Amino acid sequence: MDYQVRKIPSYRVIADSGGSRYRFFCDLSGAAVCTTNPIRALTADEELTLAWEREGKERFNMCTRCGKWVCNAMYNADVLECVDCSPWEDPPRFCQECGAIISKSETYCPKCGALLRYGGT
Ligand SMILES: [Zn+2]
Ligand SMILES: [Zn+2]
Repeated sequence: MDYQVRKIPSYRVIADSGGSRYRFFCDLSGAAVCTTNPIRALTADEELTLAWEREGKERFNMCTRCGKWVCNAMYNADVLECVDCSPWEDPPRFCQECGAIISKSETYCPKCGALLRYGGT
């Protein structure tokens, strides 16, 4: 595994009987995105890496412009940038595959799982 890219969002450690839980926060909204299961490793550094690699990372998106880790709601998947760098101009309203109404910012259709495309592209 290559751990050279160590940038992670802000986090907080919560002591738990089974180890340490890590709570990760969206760099943009500051919202708590996820809290990991208790993790125990030899060093705090290792725990953090495990927490992030195993459970944190998949809930986040990295802005390719500013490098922030943001939650799905703060990510413009069309250009792979956070909404701070690239605000939505035309969020999708319907799934092009099944016609489901999209009520909030989603990358994939909650009904059929199709990748949603943003207007004008
Ligand atoms: Zn950004
Ligand atoms: Zn759909």
